[in-house]
Amino acid sequence: MVNVKAYHSLVNELKPGNIQLLAVSKLQPAQSILQLYNEGQRDFGENYVQEMLEKQEVLPNDIRWHFIGHLQSNKVKYIASFVHLIHGVDSEKLLLEINKQAAKNGRVINCLLQVHIAQEETKFGFDPQEAAILLEKLIAQPSALTHICIRGLMGMASFTENTATIRSEFKILYRLFQQFHSRVSFFDCLSMGMTSDYTIAAEEGTTMVRVGSLIFGDRK
Ligand SMILES: *Cc1c(COP(=O)(O)O)cnc(C)c1O
Repeated sequence: MVNVKAYHSLVNELKPGNIQLLAVSKLQPAQSILQLYNEGQRDFGENYVQEMLEKQEVLPNDIRWHFIGHLQSNKVKYIASFVHLIHGVDSEKLLLEINKQAAKNGRVINCLLQVHIAQEETKFGFDPQEAAILLEKLIAQPSALTHICIRGLMGMASFTENTATIRSEFKILYRLFQQFHSRVSFFDCLSMGMTSDYTIAAEEGTTMVRVGSLIFGDRK
């Protein structure tokens, strides 16, 4: 069940800092998305290709669909015609495939590099240093990938109650973001913060929070 009141208070909370809200709708019914759409929300985040396709087919055309899960190269082709922003780009192989499928569709696809900032081993992403090296390479060779636009970075902090740990991880990501944001005009998106830690992310310079359960309730 959508918590419309929590949604509006979140929108108001993010407004002064000009922080974008991505409503994370994975494992939630299309009906709940439509309910938020009718409240004015247009950006929705999904983690699974098949689920995103099914929802995209039945929901309004002006929804901006963000892919925030782990994307396998062989599935890029299914979402390349409509995806608005791919948050979890974690390999050069995936970047090349997105570029190829975007070209086939005559589009430029916006991407974020996922950076591994958490202590847990299981989370995907580039190490901060690897991400910096890749970005330098892409800046030096702007003609290499003509159908993708790297708009910024995405990261997930450790799953912990320790807010000092979370804050220090967000600081690492922010610093890296700032380093390229100051040089590249379109490098303007820092996707960090979810239900449990978006207030810390807001204090640490996020430009987009990915919030699910706070507004949609628990997932099935
Ligand atoms: C599920 C998910 C979220 C949202 O999580 P909530 O705790 O429900 O806000 C954010 N980011 C990613 C990458 C996710 O997979």
